[in-house]
Amino acid sequence: MSGGALVEARGLVKVFRRGGLGRARLVRAVDGVDVSIRRGEALGLVGESGSGKSTLGRLLLRLLRPDAGSIVFDGVDITSLPEKRLRPLRRRMQLIPQDPYASFNPLRRLGEQLAEPLLAHRLVGSVSEAYARVREALEEVGLSPAEDFMRRYPGQLSGGQLQRAAIVRAFLLDPDFIVADEPTSSLDVSVRAGILRLLRRYKEERRGSLLFITHDLATARLVSDRIAVMYLGRIVEEGPAREV
Ligand code: ADP
Ligand code: MG
Repeated sequence: MSGGALVEARGLVKVFRRGGLGRARLVRAVDGVDVSIRRGEALGLVGESGSGKSTLGRLLLRLLRPDAGSIVFDGVDITSLPEKRLRPLRRRMQLIPQDPYASFNPLRRLGEQLAEPLLAHRLVGSVSEAYARVREALEEVGLSPAEDFMRRYPGQLSGGQLQRAAIVRAFLLDPDFIVADEPTSSLDVSVRAGILRLLRRYKEERRGSLLFITHDLATARLVSDRIAVMYLGRIVEEGPAREV
């Protein structure tokens, strides 16, 4: 049915405990979800706030562990793989987070934070090569002059600028699968078009797989091949982007 899927999840469940002592309430953030994404395919995930979109994205990347169900990435069952064995796969599965401020270290310059993973994963041969790559990638998303942005601390960028830096961080590692969680929500219309073009190119030329999360169906249609609609932890509708 889903031959050639890069990411394949079955019956995913994630329950959160909310509230304090004695009166804790269980929230089924993800409540029995199947997902399948092929190479070179973008699945749009839309739904109102609180429907479980971010939780589902984090499960697929195994940033969270599911309470039930299974996740297979490129033929490897990662459902309960320990962190040590997940590590070699981490570079290949990247998150563009909904809140970029929370995902950068406020005390370190942007240039260092973007160059470091390239060196850690041995994608470059030298520090100067790492910085050259970072410079080029920042210019590509309009963070120019790149040298200026590389010297800054995260707090010295606007929300939209930092969101673009988070996009650069994901792309630099040349991943096979990206979960983009509302990646254009804090961007101006002009910048947004450029980012959507970048995501489309990633899927079409790089043959990357993409889960594109948004609360906006019109935006989802611009990059997605298929769209799934989430409501209260479940996928309630799914189909080709034109038909949903
Ligand atoms: P969306 O991304 O669609 O807005 P989320 O996945 O962030 O939805 O949240 C789905 C539900 O799970 C919400 O009710 C939210 O409050 C709850 N939730 C998400 N993360 C946590 C957490 N870490 N602890 C407790 N509840 C959570
Ligand atoms: Mg969310």
